[in-house]
Order: sequence, then C-alpha cells, then structure tokens
Amino acid sequence: MRHHPDSLALPSLPSRLARLGALAALAAGFGFHANAAELTVVPLPAQIAAPEGAPGFPLGGAVPIVYTDPAAKSAAELFAASMREATQGKFVATAGAARPGAIVFERAADLPREGYRLTVDAKGARIAASANGGWFYGAQTLLQLTPRAGAKTIPAVNISDAPAYPWRGVMLDVSRYFFSKKYVLRYLDMMAMHKLNVFHWHLVDDCGWRIEIKRYPKLTEIGAFRGQGDARHGGFYTQSDIREIVAYAAARNIEVIPEIEVPAHTLSALCAYPELGCTKKQFEMPVKHSISPEIYCVGKPKTWEFLDGVFTEVAALFPSPWIHIGGDEARYSRWKKCPDCQSVIKEQKLKGEHELQGWATRRLSAMLKPKGKRIVGWSEVLGCGAGPDTGLMVWHQPNDAKKGAIAGHPIVLSYTGNTYFDAPESKLPGEPPAATWIPPVTLQRAYEWDPMPANLPEAARKNILGPNACLWSDQFLHTPDKLADRPGEGTARSEAYADYLTLPRIAALAEVGWTPKPSRNFAGFRERMATLYPRYADKGYLFRVPTPEITEEKRGGETFVSARCPVEGGSVRYTLDGSEPTADSPKLEGSIKVGEKDNLRAITVLPDGKRTSLVYASKQTQNPFPELGAVAGRWKPGQPGAGTPKPMTFDATGLINANGDYEITFRYTGGAQRLEIDGIKILRNDSEVVAADEHHGFTGSQHKDNVYKVKIKDYQTGASFKIVAQVYGDEGSNTEGVVLIKRK
Ligand SMILES: [Zn+2]
Repeated sequence: MRHHPDSLALPSLPSRLARLGALAALAAGFGFHANAAELTVVPLPAQIAAPEGAPGFPLGGAVPIVYTDPAAKSAAELFAASMREATQGKFVATAGAARPGAIVFERAADLPREGYRLTVDAKGARIAASANGGWFYGAQTLLQLTPRAGAKTIPAVNISDAPAYPWRGVMLDVSRYFFSKKYVLRYLDMMAMHKLNVFHWHLVDDCGWRIEIKRYPKLTEIGAFRGQGDARHGGFYTQSDIREIVAYAAARNIEVIPEIEVPAHTLSALCAYPELGCTKKQFEMPVKHSISPEIYCVGKPKTWEFLDGVFTEVAALFPSPWIHIGGDEARYSRWKKCPDCQSVIKEQKLKGEHELQGWATRRLSAMLKPKGKRIVGWSEVLGCGAGPDTGLMVWHQPNDAKKGAIAGHPIVLSYTGNTYFDAPESKLPGEPPAATWIPPVTLQRAYEWDPMPANLPEAARKNILGPNACLWSDQFLHTPDKLADRPGEGTARSEAYADYLTLPRIAALAEVGWTPKPSRNFAGFRERMATLYPRYADKGYLFRVPTPEITEEKRGGETFVSARCPVEGGSVRYTLDGSEPTADSPKLEGSIKVGEKDNLRAITVLPDGKRTSLVYASKQTQNPFPELGAVAGRWKPGQPGAGTPKPMTFDATGLINANGDYEITFRYTGGAQRLEIDGIKILRNDSEVVAADEHHGFTGSQHKDNVYKVKIKDYQTGASFKIVAQVYGDEGSNTEGVVLIKRK
C-alpha cells in the first residue's frame, strides 16, 4: 500500500514499460472482437482478450467471494460491498479455498505490486495479485465488467494488467475552499474507481490552514477560518480525521501526500503566528484570492523550530515517504529588507534571495530525512539548488521535466494545459466559469498527451513517475453567483462543482497514467466512456454530461445532421428554432436535414432524464455574433460581385416581427477580400420597398459604417421581409460573412 522511495523511483520502469508495450501490441493484434463491446474498461488494461464464443460467468443470487490469502481480505471485502451496492445481491467475502462457481482472490507472487490477472469463464472469476493494490484493481476491473442491468453475466475475459506509471495522482485544493471530510472520502472513491493512486492534498495556502497541529493550535483556530457573519468560511481536519482518511485511502491503494507550503503561500500561518514573518506584523485572514508577499522568515531560529514542530506531526500522520512543500511563487520583497534573512545570505555566501530559498529547501530536506521523508515541490524548486532526491512537480515548462529527469530528480507532470481541472472544459455558454488564465482543458486535451518528455535519454526515463491532475479551488472562493446555474444541485454547491470539474477528466488522466501509450486513442476512450457515465450516475456523482457528438454533412448542396449519444442509454434532443432543447424535445435519430435558416441546438439527456448536457450549437448555423442580433443569412465566396455591386437577398421574415427600429449588420468572417456594401433596402412581400439605408460601408479585417438602420412603420402579420443589399468584394469575391438583424 505504501510507496517506498525505491518502489516509486522504480528503476525497473523501462523494462516494465517495454514489456507492457509488447503486451499491448499483442492485445491490439487479437482479442478485440466478438465481445469487445462488452469489454469497456477505463483505464484500458495493458492486455485484454475475450475468448471468442466462450460463455461468461452468470451471477446468481449469492455468488461466494473467497480469498485464499489473508492479504487479499481487504480488497475482497470492499469488492463484496461494491457488489451489494451495485446489484442488491447477497455478496459476502470469506477466507477459503478456491472453488468453482466463486469469485476468487488468490496470490500470484510473480506480479508487480499494482498488477493483476483477471480470468472470467463459465466456472467463475479469479483475481490473482501479489499485493492489495493488484487485488483492488482487479476488483475494479471486474466491477466495470459486471453489467449494470439485465442478465447479470460477466463476459468471459482474460486480462493481464499493470500500470504504465507508478504515480497517478490528483491534487485537491482544500485550502482555498474547505471540503468536508465526507467529500474527501467521496473524492477518494472517485479516484479509486479509476485506479488513481496518489491523493495530493493541498492542505495549506494563504487562505486557509487545514491540518490540526497540536503544538500550534492557533494554526487552525485562526488560520482555518476567514470572513465574518454569513460570509465566514472555513474548517480543518483533526488528526483523527486525517488518520481515518489515510486509512480509507490505503485500503483503496491510494497514497496520501500532504502539501505543506514553505516558504510562500503561508499567510494563514502568519496570521496565527506573526512572529514567523520578517516584519512580525499582525495580518488578517484574506477573504479574496491573491498570492501574498508575506512568507516565512527563514532567517529566524523560531521559524525553524516551528517548521520542525509542524513537520514532526505531519510526518507521523502520513505514511507516505513524500511530503510536498510547495515552494512555488515565492516573492522576496520581505526577505530583501529583513536583517535576519540577509545575514543568512551573508553567512552562507549566497547569491541573493533565490539562493536563500534553495538553502531553506535543502535545510528542510535535511530536517525531514531523519523523519523518513523526502520532499517534492513545484518545479520552481529546480532552480533553487535542491538535491536530486527532491521530487519535482512540473506544471508549465516541459523543459524542466527533461532537465530535472536528466539531473536525477523524480518528476511528476502537472501541465496546466492537460491537467489543471479547475480550467473549464469548454467555452460553451453555461459552462461554469472556472480558471480563466489558461484555455479550456477539453476531455481530449486531458487525454492526448504523454508524460514522457520527448527525446529523453533512456537512462533518465525511469525518473518520470507519472501524471498528476490539479483541482485548485480559488474559483470556489466567495463566488456563489458563479455556481448559480450549473451544476448547482444540492446545498453543497461547491462540492457539486468539484464533481463537475473532476469527472470525466480524471478518467482521461487515469488512462494517461495507466495504459501503455501505443494502446491509447481518444476515439476508443470516448467510446468506452459511454458505459462509464451511467456508472457515475449510479453513484450520484454530478459529472459533466458530455455534449452530443454531431456530424454535419453536405449532400447535393444540402446539410444533413446526425448525432451520436455519448452516454449509453441516453438520448440526444434537439430544436431547430434556436430555443434551448429540454429532455422533452424531439430525439435526434438518424439523419435530419437542416436549412440555412435553421438554428440547430442539441443536448445529451441522461438515461433517467434528470440531467442534461450544455447545448451544442451547430457550427453551420450557430451565431458567431449573438450580440449583433439574429442571423438573417450568410454570404459565401463567389456570391457577391467582384469589383462591381450585385444584389444579394437575405430573408428577414420572422426576424422583422413588429414595428420599430432595426439594425442590420454585415460581419466578415473569412476570405481574402472585404465586402463593400452600397446600401440596403427592405422588401415586403417581394414587391414593396418599405425602408432603405443607402450609405456605403465595408466589412473585412476592419469595419466601417457596416451597420444599416431602418424603421418599420406599418408591420403586417404574415408578411414576408427581405433584405436586398448591393454588395461586392473590393478586388474579387473571395469573402464570406454573416448578416445579422436586431430590433432596437
Ligand atoms: Zn526574514
């Protein structure tokens, strides 16, 4: 259950990877046939084969679960509990000998710590492993293979599996937003079903100190709460909570690594004990997210006495050999003016404050060593002269990963563009606003990357431990309005939001860390995810429901649209009038024709009809400039005159729907030429000019006078309205754009 430093650094990794690569190649060659549709396991096993035509194992009312080795007891019992929950059947795990008709947990000494072999046939199921992790993971795979409904027969299968990387982590930031112990346990469950094995627990930051330290009680009395009255937020985990969480995690093969920041991101500690800062000033707990310039004074003996006291208690609580010390984003303005810090620089002959941080990091590392711990820090630590036994969590510079690995540092990859799950998944309207400083991390971006830096010398590859996602919670701070719409279920709104940001992206992360690279492909992953979403729903997880996968096809000048529902048993519902579809809108099945004026919108509806996805708006029909009104039409290359004006007609029927002032805007969207506009007329019932604006304007990479204003005075219900524009491209007709109309 524990990673020892040696097992994590895993000198045998390259040979193991090579072996798994070979297994994956075998799996790709045969096995994915007959029952492939039923074998939807995430993360995809290294080797999976379905014997063609072989009958599966029927689950009757009471299938015995036996473990032949006492070390498998915990995994067998957790499996039995999950089966009871999933099937309402009477599953109980007992010690005993293997026998036909049973689900057997047995020992296979040849397997790596997290590896397992799973065999299912008509006579039963067998999970062979050498340690709790392997048995637990074999059981997770078996759970995913057990049908959710209908005839409960587990398909016949032979799986031989082990992870590609030894570190498959997720960070939860409980400092900026305090997540309850109950939620943390739920989060561990989410991780466990995806075979993720490192819970990186961000317990300390400027906005909150979340871990009880008995010797320094003010850390949590003062540092765990902020704000006043209704806006007061906070909480912390007692040492007994932490022991419970660590044990719960260990049973699920998850190692808990605490992050206790040094020297920056520590305002919460300085609010409790101002004497630990350079200025000794009393600060207030911050109620807004910012990175404080107040950091520990590393020049005072008192600070080191404090750190020793804190880390002694931390080391005793967490069996992991790793302690994350942050180390990022330290601002040195206080150190620069502090006589104590400056005297260390002088005595130690350091070149400035950056080297002072390096000195402090090395001192911390030396302090932790006798406590059986080594440190991991954000990649900033690399430039601090920290020793090669320091682990680096690289978040923005792939070069740091390469440099660090070559220098011998163990490396964990937390790239912002692939693993920062506080970034939204899309820019679709209705997406809960999340981190805005990085682009959306789509499911595909979370999936399509490789932790192994390109061109890393063979000898350094063993230093790449694996991927680690980050769910920062600064977006959860005092912004209940942000969470007002979606997902917004229940009272623990922020916790629902954390579910939403985490799922399904940790499934992508899990496969990045588990499945050998040659076996990974996004299309296959998305296909397998279809069966995982209903399992999330069964567990009550408020995952982000994926938007429908829509295909638009041109046939004979017309556009046809078809949809694939990304959730097994769910449906795709649509509208064509631009209104928001609901669970009761028509189903989009087969192929439907959409016209130029149709405004296709579609959603995914879960099997129970209760939750829906965000709205997919057709690329062909979606409005790129909703603020300018509704789309009356588009022009395409070749349609406008080239150099001389030519009339083009756009249908405004239904868009002119009352008397009033209207603005008609021409907006270029592409092509080599801008569109010149020599004025417009509004034609009623194809015959009568009821309004006109005949000024000259143009639209291209720049626009001038491209808005036309007309007044409709005697609107008639049922009348048709057309916009007739005299238009041409300035030097040719390679131009395209959209015409929009809006009533003022
Ligand atoms: Zn100082």
